[in-house]
Amino acid sequence: MSELQKIDCHTHIVNREIYSQYCRSSGCGDYALVMEFLPHMAKENMPDKSWSLCDGSERLFLCPSVDIHGDIPKQLKEIEKKMLAHPGSRVVGLKIFLTYQAGRADDERMSPIYDFAEKHGFSVTFHTGLPSLHLPNDYDMDGSNARYVKNVALKYPAVNFIVAHMDDPRYDACLQLMHDVPNMFTDFSGAFEPGTKVAEDEEGTIAEFSHAIHQFPDSYKQIIYGTDFCPPILLSEIEKYDDTIKKIFEEKQFRDIYWHTPLRAYPKVAEYLKKKG
Ligand SMILES: [Zn+2]
Repeated sequence: MSELQKIDCHTHIVNREIYSQYCRSSGCGDYALVMEFLPHMAKENMPDKSWSLCDGSERLFLCPSVDIHGDIPKQLKEIEKKMLAHPGSRVVGLKIFLTYQAGRADDERMSPIYDFAEKHGFSVTFHTGLPSLHLPNDYDMDGSNARYVKNVALKYPAVNFIVAHMDDPRYDACLQLMHDVPNMFTDFSGAFEPGTKVAEDEEGTIAEFSHAIHQFPDSYKQIIYGTDFCPPILLSEIEKYDDTIKKIFEEKQFRDIYWHTPLRAYPKVAEYLKKKG
């Protein structure tokens, strides 16, 4: 396994301390995507310095967050300004905190986000399903349902949409919705959060993931590797994701999950890596 290159598509390595912890746990991995938090999610032990941390990093890519309750067009302009101010921070997508923020992916007021993503070649990652036990949230479980993501995925075929956390716990329905929608992807990042039902019954949960993913023979092509690494909110597992992947997928599929599918899901990552040679 160690020879496999990996792109961890979902982390919250939002400051240097968390990055050091990540390196200690995983030998820095190969590449990781940083999902910026919303300003009100920052904690004293979790300042969000994503932009400066990613600026110039060889291994990190950035997905800035958008506050869907705020002025969306204004924030998108802000992101463009920050991209100029931090030319070395490789922005590859946007992060939307559904569930935490009440709202649906297919709400008309979200469309500037998708137009912006299309213009820049960015992918859009949604938090879906159950939220972290350690962040403030609106608990809008219906709003984050993957079926609304599917509506926008069909409307914006040139943009890739990532349903993070497989719409926890609506796993079967999530994979059914995604079937034959090639610009939708999912992961099971954040699954092993202490205190959750999932973490209490790891084997049962892995069996549920496996059931959902094996409903269709080609679903594995829409699954990407992600860990949700963020020790300040008790997400620090890395090896468990490798073990889970070993349990769910055939060995010949590992490279897809860790590498090829992430590159398809985030074409900007592929573009940056190609440039690097
Ligand atoms: Zn996350």
